[in-house]
Amino acid sequence: MNIDFKNTEAAFISKTDKDLKKTRFLYRIMARPRITKTAKFFTQLAMNIHFPINWIVKPTIYKLFVGGEAINECNPTVEIISNYKVNAILDYSVEGKSSIDDINKALNETLNSIKNAGTNANIPFAVFKPTAFTTSNVLTKASAGETMTEEEIKEAQNFKNRVHTLCKSAYENNIPILIDAEDSWYQKFIDDTVEEMMVLYNKEKAIVFNTWQMYRHDRLEHLKKSYEKALEGNYFLGAKFVRGAYMEKERERAKKMGYESPICKDKSETDQSYNNALRFSFEHRDRVSIFNGTHNEESSLLLAELMNKEGIAANDKRFWFSQLFGMSDNISFNLAKEGYNVAKYLPYGPVKHVLPYLFRRAEENTSVKGQTSRELSLISNEIKRRKAK
Ligand SMILES: Cc1cc2nc3c(=O)[nH]c(=O)nc-3n(C[C@H](O)[C@H](O)[C@H](O)COP(=O)(O)OP(=O)(O)OC[C@H]3O[C@@H](n4cnc5c(N)ncnc54)[C@H](O)[C@@H]3O)c2cc1C
Repeated sequence: MNIDFKNTEAAFISKTDKDLKKTRFLYRIMARPRITKTAKFFTQLAMNIHFPINWIVKPTIYKLFVGGEAINECNPTVEIISNYKVNAILDYSVEGKSSIDDINKALNETLNSIKNAGTNANIPFAVFKPTAFTTSNVLTKASAGETMTEEEIKEAQNFKNRVHTLCKSAYENNIPILIDAEDSWYQKFIDDTVEEMMVLYNKEKAIVFNTWQMYRHDRLEHLKKSYEKALEGNYFLGAKFVRGAYMEKERERAKKMGYESPICKDKSETDQSYNNALRFSFEHRDRVSIFNGTHNEESSLLLAELMNKEGIAANDKRFWFSQLFGMSDNISFNLAKEGYNVAKYLPYGPVKHVLPYLFRRAEENTSVKGQTSRELSLISNEIKRRKAK
């Protein structure tokens, strides 16, 4: 095995010198919490008073993390990275909307993205966030098993129907579909719905993928039970793994409402739980397809090593590695160079609707100190390497 995540030439091969310097500039800004906080404040203020912000956001942080406002705007990016065998997953990233108009718009857009993936060999998956398809009230109540009004029961069924429409389309277009995970208090109802979809559409191979957030201490057990059910029901388990993006919010809610936090006690427990989920799924690879969604080098390497040890071809379609667009190109491009299946999540959507995603990325790159300094030092090394040529 010849994977070297420090190979910056391969990592940034798709970027011009100008791109690299701009990326370094943006990462330097994000590394400073005070500037990030102030920028967030003024952006939100500008949005509230309808002051135009596209001119500043679009060429900067938006361009770093987002593919474009619509599917066709993402095409140049998809093409550039595919030259280096890095695929893309187009993710319609409009968040926090729940009117029926918004839901229908998200449904149509996601159906378009599934069809588009079906016609483009460089887009191997479709994806959606379940919270785009009903209200948080219904997801919360249905997950907690609370009594619901007749209208709420109807809306819960509408949610299931929408998810079904998307999974059916994915099956018909032969495009595996990833269902993201968000707050834990929505997840039970989502898990149950996704499981029903796997029973229907995963008979021949994994088309429907659920997401396991391994920062939750109950997820390894849940994964094992899901595997048992897949065995009993004779279907394939599509398993996307992430550590989880909402740790602070989870802990705050648990504290406020007086229940035990669902999150692992520390980072090393999360790491262990994540890597054990990979090991368990790999052991049961006849039944489980693995989508390794992480910027963690150790977890990325772990799956490659497990495959290598068992003599499994790097391009075996049961195993995928994925990072977010704009982050950890050293992992994506170096794995792709060695023949592994790699796809970057490429969000798209109108600037103002993508802002929550951008704020999350900026905050993540401020708070996860290691990540920012790693990105910055890799970019600086590559700039130096190119200068010395
Ligand atoms: C392709 C892709 C898809 C994604 N999809 C989703 C999704 O559907 N849902 C979702 O929630 N997130 C998603 N994420 C984000 C992901 O959950 C993480 O926030 C992010 O990737 C950082 O984790 P990491 O594995 O890259 O590695 P690292 O940088 O090694 O780990 C950071 C993570 O470790 C955990 N952690 C940090 N400190 C502690 C602590 N003190 N105690 C316990 N745990 C701790 C947190 O989860 C934190 O995000 C996705 C990420 C990728 C790359």
